[in-house]
Amino acid sequence: MRIGVPAEVKDNEFRVAITPAGVHALVGHGHEVCIEAGAGVGSGVPDDQYEAAGATITADVAEVWDSSEMILKVKEPVEAEYDRLHEGLVLFTYLHLAADKPLTEALLNHRVTSLAYETVETDDHQLPLLSPMSEIAGKLAPQVGANCLMQPHGGNGTLLGGGTGVHKGKVVVLGGGVAGFSAAQVAAGMGACVTVYDVNPTRMRYISDVSSGHIATEFSTLLGVATACRDADLVIGSVLVPGARTPHLVSNETVSQMKPGSVLVDIAIDQGGCFEDSRPTTHTDPTFRVHDSIFYCVANMPGAVPHTSTMALTNATLGYAIQLADKGWHEAIRTRCDLARGLATYDRELYSVPVGEALNIPT
Ligand code: NAD
Repeated sequence: MRIGVPAEVKDNEFRVAITPAGVHALVGHGHEVCIEAGAGVGSGVPDDQYEAAGATITADVAEVWDSSEMILKVKEPVEAEYDRLHEGLVLFTYLHLAADKPLTEALLNHRVTSLAYETVETDDHQLPLLSPMSEIAGKLAPQVGANCLMQPHGGNGTLLGGGTGVHKGKVVVLGGGVAGFSAAQVAAGMGACVTVYDVNPTRMRYISDVSSGHIATEFSTLLGVATACRDADLVIGSVLVPGARTPHLVSNETVSQMKPGSVLVDIAIDQGGCFEDSRPTTHTDPTFRVHDSIFYCVANMPGAVPHTSTMALTNATLGYAIQLADKGWHEAIRTRCDLARGLATYDRELYSVPVGEALNIPT
């Protein structure tokens, strides 16, 4: 199979969908890999390393898309890329379609077979292609949140770890999954007072156990979350309902009652966001104010640490990419239930039920 890897075009997105080791593995399985020149530079991978591993390099992005049977990407195609989609193409990337009707329609209209990294799901409900990036976004959230809390950046001037004889910053984490627990661990490591809100008692027990009680847990209700937010310095949103739009757990009214200079980091913005006022932002212009609080809603947070993120992502995706290339997408999903759950569109048909419900498109 001929596999194409274009450079990412989203703002400040420096990740790339394959490493030289991945090229070497695919070529070893008899496939051709065509990479857009410079695609790996932001992740510290120069073209010559890909060439040495067996890839061909082209400066012509149209050639990468047009000549490939399968495209491996990191982020969902942006509008400027819609016209590159073509019938018969297999697209394997993050898609986040529940919050993106134009892209869903573009995939259907161009009859693309698309498989979304974020909905590949194992029988025990693990999300193996989302969790490496969730872990990284989670670890980044207290870091960016602490930065926003600094007074010169418009925050309330609270140091999360407090000081000797001075109270700690209060951090509320909504959703204690991979991203939320990673965020909670880093925030607790910075010395903050951390509470995780979730609806899954098993998950809350796990968090409590492995943190030896250093991270508090509370059952998530709208009333409980609103009360906690009013007292918080930093709120981190990391709720996920797989494949569906994220429920809004923090209303505009609650934000209006929060401490001036408090910060809200919405990791879940790629699925629509946990806060009513969230809207996607970019690394170039990451924050905006709502009432007296600062919102940070960057939809590709791991793009800021591409050296780490590219390795973590491709470690997880490569095995699936090899299956798709070796067997063809149809046979690959017939034999792998986890990969089958990733199928989003095929030949004008939408296969993801939660996306169909969110966008009101029949499945
Ligand atoms: P996950 O499935 O591991 O965790 C989600 C958690 O939310 C679960 O523990 C679940 O029980 C909990 N939850 C569900 N409904 C809830 C509610 N009403 N209140 C409180 N908790 C609730 O998911 P994850 O891998 O941690 O991903 C979290 C989010 O982060 C996703 O939206 C994902 O797309 C997003 N993400 C964003 C970035 C970024 O750059 N912005 C990067 C990676 C992941």
